[in-house]
Amino acid sequence: MKYDVTIIGSGPAGAYCARNLAEKGLKVLILDKKKFPREKHCGGLISKKALRVLKEDFVKEYGVKKRYNPIFKIILTSGERKTFLEKNDSVGIIVKRKEFDELLTSQAIDKGAIFMDGCEYQFHTLNKSYYEIHTTKGTFSSDYIIGADGVFSRVAKVSGLRQSFRNWEMGMAVSCEIPKELVIEKGGVEFIFLKILGGMGWCFSGTDFVNIGVGGYALDSKKILLAANELMIKRLKNKNNVINLRASFLPAGGRKRTIAKEKVFLVGDAAGLIDAFSGEGIYYALTSGKIVAEVILKNQTATDYEEQCYRKFLNEFRLSILMSIVLGERNNIFKQGFDKKLLEAFDKILTIAPKNGCYKELIFNIARHGFSPVFPYLWIKSLLFA
Ligand SMILES: Cc1cc2nc3c(=O)[nH]c(=O)nc-3n(C[C@H](O)[C@H](O)[C@H](O)COP(=O)(O)OP(=O)(O)OC[C@H]3O[C@@H](n4cnc5c(N)ncnc54)[C@H](O)[C@@H]3O)c2cc1C
Repeated sequence: MKYDVTIIGSGPAGAYCARNLAEKGLKVLILDKKKFPREKHCGGLISKKALRVLKEDFVKEYGVKKRYNPIFKIILTSGERKTFLEKNDSVGIIVKRKEFDELLTSQAIDKGAIFMDGCEYQFHTLNKSYYEIHTTKGTFSSDYIIGADGVFSRVAKVSGLRQSFRNWEMGMAVSCEIPKELVIEKGGVEFIFLKILGGMGWCFSGTDFVNIGVGGYALDSKKILLAANELMIKRLKNKNNVINLRASFLPAGGRKRTIAKEKVFLVGDAAGLIDAFSGEGIYYALTSGKIVAEVILKNQTATDYEEQCYRKFLNEFRLSILMSIVLGERNNIFKQGFDKKLLEAFDKILTIAPKNGCYKELIFNIARHGFSPVFPYLWIKSLLFA
């Protein structure tokens, strides 16, 4: 059997794209190398703007089948200093990614997509007008291939779109989920400013767990690990509890990359669509999955896809990188009396779509407050030569 579209990877980008295509009647195959449901290293914060992308029935079904924690409070802390914003409407939800991705995948299956887990994509070849996709579970034929296979995308490599992201294009984050009763937490979503260049820590309050982590530039990995260990010790009620931290990589958006050619498209992390300042990726994974589905349904081209993605994301991604650069080590924020503005900015980052822009005003405010930036050379390079 030949499929219309084969999607490699069933994270938010792949599963949501599969759902959108399958419900329009296309024959869709999704492959994932992991056995589902699978663990996924993540903060588990699904922003309000990401929830808006999802079809309404998703959130309804989520409430029935799984448990999530709605967030009404944003907290910024640095050392002993703290500022917070309480809202009547939620700014997002905290989920377990294992459950979130499982439900997205099951909705794609309900709409008619075929899902094969434990099936690893190896390479593909072009056979006349369709692709032959070679996997650990056999060979499949398909008109389109979508690489939704994350930061180390093999589809990108095999199709010649990209070998790998460079070190200086990547963020690194260390995190873990800890049972609530073991942790000192403040409720809501807490962003913690540490002495790390362009990075921060977080403490997100889930239903019966807390997700704690630290992220920053991959080049600064030693400092990130150190800061994560210190944060853990600070937040654990019993300092003797042993917590296993895991590190993962995030590709920062902000550069125009080639993310599609012929009938091969990259989405989500595989396309490098992550907000460098906030580390948010799920909104961009879902949105790029939605865009690519529309492009295929309208029989548009790889160029159309790239244009639509970059029209939506690129300006905001660039400002987001600029924000990371001008703020430098974010623990300065409280010293400069800039915390309230930043609190409002976090609210906007979580709730407003990028085309409506949340970074411009913030950067203007930073300039007025006379921040002394720390310029990481390679990030400047990425901005200038994008
Ligand atoms: C520590 C950390 C915390 C984060 N916290 C947040 C957060 O709180 N909120 C937020 O919005 N974003 C967060 N992000 C970013 C977010 O996790 C990603 O942007 C998001 O997972 C991207 O989704 P995706 O579908 O593109 O890729 P992924 O979720 O990475 O899914 C890729 C899938 O492809 C599969 N795959 C890979 N290779 C193959 C292959 N060869 N064959 C078959 N299958 C394959 C994998 O098994 C995986 O299931 C965080 C990232 C990190 C590292």
